[in-house]
Amino acid sequence: MQLEFFGAAGEVTGSCHIVRAAGRTLLLDCGMIQGGADATARNRREFPFEPRAIDAVVLSHAHVDHCGRLPLLVKRGYRGPIYTNAACADLVPILLRDSAHLALREAERANRDLARGEEPATPLFDLADVDATVRQLAKIPYDAERELFPGITVRVRDAGHILGSSSVELCLTEGSLRRKLVFSGDLGQYDTPILHDPHRFETADLVLMESTYGDRRHREREDTERELAAILAEAARDGGNVIVPAFAIGRSQEFLYLLAKHFAEWHMARWKIFLDSPMAIAASRVYWQHPDRFDDEASRLRASFRGMPPLPNLVLSESPDDSRAINNIRGGAIIIAGSGMANGGRVLHHLKHNLERPECHVVIVGFQAPGTLGRRLVDRNPEVFIHGRRVRVAAKIHTLGGLSAHGDQADLLRWYDSFRPRPPVFLVHGEVRAAEALAVKLRELGTQATVTQPGIRIDLNTLAREPLNP
Ligand SMILES: [Zn+2]
Repeated sequence: MQLEFFGAAGEVTGSCHIVRAAGRTLLLDCGMIQGGADATARNRREFPFEPRAIDAVVLSHAHVDHCGRLPLLVKRGYRGPIYTNAACADLVPILLRDSAHLALREAERANRDLARGEEPATPLFDLADVDATVRQLAKIPYDAERELFPGITVRVRDAGHILGSSSVELCLTEGSLRRKLVFSGDLGQYDTPILHDPHRFETADLVLMESTYGDRRHREREDTERELAAILAEAARDGGNVIVPAFAIGRSQEFLYLLAKHFAEWHMARWKIFLDSPMAIAASRVYWQHPDRFDDEASRLRASFRGMPPLPNLVLSESPDDSRAINNIRGGAIIIAGSGMANGGRVLHHLKHNLERPECHVVIVGFQAPGTLGRRLVDRNPEVFIHGRRVRVAAKIHTLGGLSAHGDQADLLRWYDSFRPRPPVFLVHGEVRAAEALAVKLRELGTQATVTQPGIRIDLNTLAREPLNP
């Protein structure tokens, strides 16, 4: 029995772990590497295994850094099942189709300035590969044990991160040797809107745990909601529009949920609310179709609005014409549009029309990577360039913390703290600094915590790590 780290070891993206047991080979996730100049080249590299030789994939959730290379795996010959729960299986096609479009555009861009004799770039995968991948999705319910092969059972548990997110429990048996492995997947914050809290585990022989915010503390949720209330009140007084660059899955639904939850108290009826992103609309519909995954508060809210969507004044802007029509609105609109870091997408048009107007407000609700327009706004640049045009920033820019889909250090420690006795932990899915900070805290609990590196292999018989190619 063996566990090997391939991706998301020492970094946040590209999650992929290889489990070998009972004569089978399983993958936990097969994510895309995102960010960094060499990401495209790294995603294209050969897998360190033969895709045809993989027996099954278990997918933790629909974010691209966890599922994004599945179509590549399928394109290169994988024909087996991809196990995940139903809500995740409904979100995966939305994400992967978007990735296929992005890959196509990227290849087109690369081919624009092709030197003579140079091989044209091809997309990493296309829509046909995505369709094939979607056909291989095999839905498994939460909390029920499922035998994948003799000696290998799996059970997925709610991770409270985005809709359909799971922590994965694998029970492996070889002769008299039994090992229970728990892979956290990405863990949500406790008391996050809409979703249940992460599942409380009790036992494991080995834990594979994310550490994205292993070195950080989020702001208290009530403070975030109070701050948003104050921003919206100020924006209403100023009489302009509010622009929210939002990620299609998770953050958009959470933001809408907060508006619905405080509908009366925040006088939301005076606004017209636009969800201007076909992808966010599709993802929201999947959320609305899975009330079985809602926590108690969300279920009550859903009942009070007599179903979903929860806002009577919500406009779903599907077509480019719907989106363009918003440009004529001078005030009283809350416009939620992608991309989340304002480095592309429909939100650029809304920023172009509203940034120069001091009565308008921009609410940044997520992490903004260096080099993106969102980051320039957060950094208070007095002017920015949009579609090649210089735009003066007169609107008020707000950064709203606390809406993260990821648990912070306290959440991660709380999740781990339910295990008795304390199993050894391997930290994945975090920058080294974040993982190291979490490892220090875990060691204070008396836990054996290791920050993983690509190529580390763990012998599950002895639970000791061994270097690759010894
Ligand atoms: Zn995630």
